[in-house]
Order: sequence, then structure tokens, then C-alpha cells
Amino acid sequence: MSEWLTCITCNRRYDISEIRYTCECGGLLSVERDQLPRDTSLFERRRASRKTIDSSGVWRFREAVLSVPEEQIVTHPEGSTRLYEREGLLFKHEGENPTGSFKDRGMTVAVTQAVRLGARVVACASTGNTSSSLAAYAAQAGLRAVVFVPARKVSAGKLAQTLAYGATCLQIRGDFDTAMRLVLEASKHLGIYLVNSINPFRIEGQKTIIWELLQDLEWNAPDWIVVPAGNLGNTSAFGKALREARQAGWISTTPRLASIQASGANPFYRSFRDSFTGRHRITAETIATAIRIGDPVSYDRAVAAIRYTGGVVEQVTDDEIMSAKREIDAMGIGCEPASAATLAGVHKLRASGVMRKEDRVVSVLTGHLLKDTDAIMKSHAGRSIEIEPAIEAVEKALA
Ligand SMILES: [Zn+2]
Repeated sequence: MSEWLTCITCNRRYDISEIRYTCECGGLLSVERDQLPRDTSLFERRRASRKTIDSSGVWRFREAVLSVPEEQIVTHPEGSTRLYEREGLLFKHEGENPTGSFKDRGMTVAVTQAVRLGARVVACASTGNTSSSLAAYAAQAGLRAVVFVPARKVSAGKLAQTLAYGATCLQIRGDFDTAMRLVLEASKHLGIYLVNSINPFRIEGQKTIIWELLQDLEWNAPDWIVVPAGNLGNTSAFGKALREARQAGWISTTPRLASIQASGANPFYRSFRDSFTGRHRITAETIATAIRIGDPVSYDRAVAAIRYTGGVVEQVTDDEIMSAKREIDAMGIGCEPASAATLAGVHKLRASGVMRKEDRVVSVLTGHLLKDTDAIMKSHAGRSIEIEPAIEAVEKALA
């Protein structure tokens, strides 16, 4: 089966084994292939299999992800995350991936491709989840990992995780967007393989979030899929996944995407409000650090995804995000702040009538509760009480 890279702006084609992240014209690249499996029963059989690559929620769909010999695949395995039903909503919890975020889905594919291309050093700019994931997969593949993070802007848990897996961590004096520009430059000048979501192979892995949740629903597509929006890799991947699922005949209707941004990091929302007539770049600020991005790299792909699915982009405040996070935590599920933007967005879209009460809605939670403990400790400090070791003190504390 043949695969190639296509520029989404000018349609120019490149060989799949060429190391490049953008077209000569500056456009983003997309992995394309000449056919997809038609019959979803193949995926059902693999789901029941005990073989490692079949139990991966990414490589279960391998004919539509990356054509590569099985022994070259670098898989933890990942994916196969749970779908929770609570209060009439569905939550696909990508925080249940091996390193605690959805990033593992794209990283297994990007690192597999890195090995295939003979890369020795892999790098990314990150708000913390990508760096943790890259560090883990690079460790597994025996590659050196270098991560570029905004100095003092990454949660302690994510930074610790990245260091634990053995990556070199460059704390860039600047924001995420500055780190992103620097890592792009480093990949050009220092021969480092870049695995940010600008890398089209990351998108191929992230598509499987959608396919797996459709499989969870026995290929009965929901009305809406809601996703937090920062660098727009997921919005892009989800649009591609839905287009391919529809083309292959796996689903007969296309869900609408709702991409939710934090109001302090809302360049995509601003463009949506302008009917995508122009691109915005802002200085981002939000408590949801995973989506604190002012100049998203996957902008063009994400615009195509919103258009293809008849989707919407909404914005929510930090207070709305933290209130929704307390709701999700109180359901016994839990997530990091950025993930909670989805539920905050659902509340807002229902209130405005865009989303109807009877619509079937799946929210994608992107990161684990323990990814950002600082935000939790700040909002629940009153219930952590130090006392003397005496029954009277216990009684008094519980009164
Ligand atoms: Zn081009």
C-alpha cells in the first residue's frame, strides 16, 4: 500500500521518507494513502486479540495510520482508553494513556517514523504533555530526546515526568510560541528530528482517538465531538479522522466538531468569529497551561476540519474551566484544567442553543488529573486539615 505527503495548500506531493515538516510553499503537510480498509470487523477482531500491536488503540487501525513493518513499530502500547457515561454526556478519557495524556497516540507514530528515518535525536516544543510523551517513547526507542519548554510555565508534574524518562529539558526564556519557533530553527540547523504536531505523522496517530470512540459506540456516530483547542493538532486530526471514516464507509453521518479555547488563549476563536477571513496571533494567558498557545501551528488544517464537519469554535473563561473541572472531578473521573474546557464549552453551547439537550455529545478529556496538581491544591485548600492525633480533634475537624 502506498503512502505519501501532500501539501494541504498547493497539493504538491513528497515522498513519505523525505524529512520535511512543511511544503516549499510554506503549507502544512498531510499523510495520504490510496486506500483504507472498508470492513470494521478487522478492528473488532484485533480489539479482542492479546498481541501488543493489536491491543494498541493506535496500531489496531494500522492500515490507516502508517504502513511500516510490525517489528519497527515503537508502541507501549497506548490508547484503548475508557469511554465514561455521566449525566447524559460521554467522556473519552485520553488521560488514561501510558504517560497520562492523548499525546502518546501521535508520539508512537512519530517516533516509529523517526526510527525508520534513522534519526538519532528527537525534539519538540511543549507545554508539558508532549515533552513527557516524547521522553517516554524516545527512551523506549533508544533515541536522545530534547524538549523546549517555556521557562517556569510548565507544571511540576509534567516537568518531573519528562526528566524521569531521561530527556534533556531546555527551559526557554519566553512563551510556548517562542519555544516553538526556536525548536523549528534547531531542527533545520542541527539535524534534529522534530515531533511537534506540525509533524504530519503525529496527526495520523491522533486520528485514532476518534476511530476508537466511534468503535466504542459501535460505529454509530454521535452528534458532537468536543475537544480543547490550543495548538490545534487534535482539531486537525479529528477532522481528518472523520473525513476518512466517512470515505471508508465506517460511519454514515459526520459528527460536528466543537473546538473550545480558553478566552485568554483564543486566536482560533477570533478567526472563527471572523468567518476565517484572517489569522490571529496573540499573547496567551490561561490557567489551562496545556492550551496556553497564542499562535497555533496547525491553524490551516484546523480550519479545514471545522469547515468539513460544520463545526464551531467557542471560548470559555478560566473560572468556567475550573468550575467544569470541579464537576468532572466530582463525577469521580477527574482531568487536568485544559480538558475541562470541553464541559465548560458544552454548557455554553447548550445555553446558546447551538447544542440541543437531546444531542449525543462526546467530550474528549486530554490529560490526567495528576498532570497539574497545583491548580487543584489552590482550589481545595480548605479541605486539607492538619490536626492533633486525638479523637476530639477529628470530631472538631468534621463538624
Ligand atoms: Zn505547498
